[in-house]
Amino acid sequence: MNRFAYTRPATLAEALAAGAEPGAAYLAAGTNLLDLMKGGLATPERVIDITRLPGLDRIEHLPDGSTRIGALVRNADLARDARFAKTYPAVAEALLSGASAQLRNAATTGGNVLQRTRCPYFYDAAAACNRRDPGAGCDAVGGATRLHAVLGWSEGCIATHPSDFCVPLAALDAMVEIEGAAGRREVALAAFHRLPGETPEHESELAPGELIAAVRLPPEAAGFAAHARYLKVRDRTSYAFATVSAAVGLSLDGGLIGQGRIALGGVAAKPWRASEAEALLAGQAPDPELFRRAAEAALAGAEPSGEANAFKIDLARRVVGRALALALAGTPERPTALPASVFSLSHGAAAHV
Ligand code: SF4
Repeated sequence: MNRFAYTRPATLAEALAAGAEPGAAYLAAGTNLLDLMKGGLATPERVIDITRLPGLDRIEHLPDGSTRIGALVRNADLARDARFAKTYPAVAEALLSGASAQLRNAATTGGNVLQRTRCPYFYDAAAACNRRDPGAGCDAVGGATRLHAVLGWSEGCIATHPSDFCVPLAALDAMVEIEGAAGRREVALAAFHRLPGETPEHESELAPGELIAAVRLPPEAAGFAAHARYLKVRDRTSYAFATVSAAVGLSLDGGLIGQGRIALGGVAAKPWRASEAEALLAGQAPDPELFRRAAEAALAGAEPSGEANAFKIDLARRVVGRALALALAGTPERPTALPASVFSLSHGAAAHV
């Protein structure tokens, strides 16, 4: 680990001033950053500890029906907030399916959004990686690609974004509130992470020195509470990143689908919003054939990025179809015993008490 200066600002203005210095990095729980620093993969000269900034650790249910999640709200606290989980059950299910209990107790909202890819070559300092070292090449291409992207990848980078939390946030039109020297601005979460193209090192819309202050769910997001699920296929039932996941929400009106929301995880360098599949659902009577066509549309344009990941395309179609069927059956009363797992019973018969 390199030597670095450590500061713990007391105000947002102090944090932004410190963060504007060259070589600065913001630190919250550090569940990703410290691993990168210990591996020599991130070498900040200044670490700005933002954990004492006031007001960023609140969940606020606002009068207009939106919900503002402060950047320092811990993943476990958010998932276990009864009002939040009731209103946004797919978000709670995604949070509870991520990482381990210990990590969820520490990891923050802002940090979850900003976590780096888990591409194993990215974490191997001996491997060529365009994300770490622009122009170096990509050792993942032609390598072990089982968990790499099937949508939106480029020859320069085939990595996926690892977050579960971000997948339902993208489906529900969440906004990211960003603070910087020029003031506050907002970016839709679905547009916050970038596809790699020719510049995989540019991972998000965050400019140097800016920090995430909050994530906000708009009032309409609550309209999917009765029919919302997150489904995650992974190599282990806990403490594993998604091979493929899907967040789904349905609003039903007189037996027809008013709106459907679909986003996928584990398939691209960002949470993948499936807008064309959603358009197929609107105004239709739900049935297995409709869900099959929506799942097909959700993976339109998918291409394997290596010999080992073609299976993910059909798997993702099946995950979308099953998530739609589970959502139609209704959100479980309580979080299932194995959140987001394909082994959970759909109605929460085996549930946490
Ligand atoms: Fe780096 Fe992306 Fe290639 Fe992985 S896939 S080695 S993150 S450039």
